[in-house]
Amino acid sequence: MSNITLGILGGGQLGSMLSIAAKKLDIKTIIYCDDKDAPAQKFCNEFIHAKYDDKKEIYNFAKKVSVITYEFENIPFETLNELNKLKTVSPKPSVNRLIQHRLAEKDFVNKLNIRTTRYVNIKNKEELMPLSDFLPGILKTTTMGYDGKGQYPIKNIDELENLNIDFTKDYILEKLVKLKKEISVIITRFRNQKYEIYEPIENIHENQILKHSKIPADISEKLLKQSRDWAITIAEELKYIGTLCIEYFIDRNDNLYVNEIAPRVHNSGHLTINAYNVSQFENHIRAVCSLEQIKLKKISNAEMINLIGNQIVSYRENPILNDNQFFFDYLKKEIKEKRKMGHLTTLK
Ligand code: ADP
Ligand code: MG
Repeated sequence: MSNITLGILGGGQLGSMLSIAAKKLDIKTIIYCDDKDAPAQKFCNEFIHAKYDDKKEIYNFAKKVSVITYEFENIPFETLNELNKLKTVSPKPSVNRLIQHRLAEKDFVNKLNIRTTRYVNIKNKEELMPLSDFLPGILKTTTMGYDGKGQYPIKNIDELENLNIDFTKDYILEKLVKLKKEISVIITRFRNQKYEIYEPIENIHENQILKHSKIPADISEKLLKQSRDWAITIAEELKYIGTLCIEYFIDRNDNLYVNEIAPRVHNSGHLTINAYNVSQFENHIRAVCSLEQIKLKKISNAEMINLIGNQIVSYRENPILNDNQFFFDYLKKEIKEKRKMGHLTTLK
């Protein structure tokens, strides 16, 4: 065993996959999560169940670990900041604060001269009324959204009356992009100008939830290069340490837009576990624990499907797989509609 203990905030499937990758590198993991049923507790060395603002438990956690990371972005900034005074938190707390706020995130990307969708901050219903040139659009909460939660598609202003929008929250209104495709680029940055980058992954969402990912993405050389260059620019600008994912839109005229940045390992990168010599999870651990950087090599093309809600059942009952297929059950306690329960990767 190495003498590194990695602390991970968050105990969902990404925490499980990080723990599995850590074990392979002889690194111990302690997961801290506010959900007592967190699936990652089955894969880590130690599990702490406590609230993210529990100062005593947070301090106790920091004492036990060598370095800290997180597997989801909605962790209070204060918690990350306090932890960072005790042990290094990677990616650094200021990066998380920037990215967890859709408005700050989009302003940051635009300052780098990188295209995003058109957007405007909305604080109340009145502000929405004169904005018909942003329609059809999507109203999104500025914080805490994932898998399409906190989003309201709006076709025209008349619809507003019927949508029960909670205006105690802050929003952005985003113009709808006429999508041709969605892709993501996953990059792991180790230090200045030192990174490993995966080829772009093509993604299909259903009801705003990722359903299907594949490599190679069917895109032009120009878009391939632009999406990689933008990912590198963003990672360098943030002085990011660890694995980062950029979600992109491509419109019908082949324009590329940054949709959002995930300051963590990402669902679209699950196929890297089987399709590359080093997965996005292992790379994240290598970067945040300052281990050796290994040159990425693709082993195979691949596709992944997410098993959402009940779709897991038949795989659990009868997992007939070919040699090129890899099924992962997240072992979540309850099956819920729209909940990611597992995935299946097929090497091509
Ligand atoms: P989340 O944080 O829930 O992942 P996203 O902003 O990534 O939110 O939106 C989820 C999905 O909804 C996107 O991947 C895309 O399929 C669709 N979507 C979101 N915003 C737009 C937009 N402005 N134009 C077209 N499709 C969009
Ligand atoms: Mg998204």
